[in-house]
Amino acid sequence: MAFASVKLAGPALAAPPPLRLSGAWRQGGFAFGHTVPRADVWLDDEAVGRAGPTGLFVVGFDRDAAATATLRVASAGGSVSHVFDLVPGDFDIQRISGLPEDQVSPSDPALLARLKQQNELKLAALASRIDTEDFRHGFAMPLPARSWRQSARFGGQRILNGEPKRPHYGADLAAPTGTAILAPAGGIVSMASTGMHFEGGLTMIDHGQGLVSIYLHQSKILVTAGQRVERGTKIGEVGMTGRATGPHLCWRMTWRGRHLDPTLLVGQTAPV
Ligand SMILES: [Zn+2]
Repeated sequence: MAFASVKLAGPALAAPPPLRLSGAWRQGGFAFGHTVPRADVWLDDEAVGRAGPTGLFVVGFDRDAAATATLRVASAGGSVSHVFDLVPGDFDIQRISGLPEDQVSPSDPALLARLKQQNELKLAALASRIDTEDFRHGFAMPLPARSWRQSARFGGQRILNGEPKRPHYGADLAAPTGTAILAPAGGIVSMASTGMHFEGGLTMIDHGQGLVSIYLHQSKILVTAGQRVERGTKIGEVGMTGRATGPHLCWRMTWRGRHLDPTLLVGQTAPV
């Protein structure tokens, strides 16, 4: 009963939980928080889980998040809340033409059935909720230094073969096929599949608290679902499988259904 002492804090000790924060307060951004272990966390009145065993938690702000976010943390002693202004994102327009039509607006019934199946696999992997604090030391870039250049930023409005489509939720890192992809932080692999129609070779890693990082278009996958990885573990190799016009890693990050800019998490550590 390691946490019994916290639960037994009597009325004389009752006080709102301490709360320290770090992060990027913007659309596509995030915040790391430190409070009491297992405190309940709400974002904009949605219960978003509990702080980890040392009191750490993470919340994310979608690409299209509203201009303000309200964060509330509650423990036995009371609750504390903060309202934050989020900096609006500055997103590009990305036009890509000459894509095969089944990569833009698929209509073949057999392909649609396969896409539905693949979507269910992705949703299950994104719903992974491992109880770890692997995000606490922040993230490294997932490709070796000097092996890549950023070819598209997170959040661009996409126009594919002339049709406006969903925004681009990844940071595209152009690199030669075969370049090593390295886990940017520890975690548990929640998906590792080849042959996805849009994503090609696709891996997802759960870093705890609903924070899942995603790697698309791989030529090679070197991990399996359920496997533990550490920062720097080689998880696969860059390729151009799926919908890709050249070899690159499309690196994505989600937190409980919100699309985050993964590059904003690089080098940011949780408060202690
Ligand atoms: Zn991409």
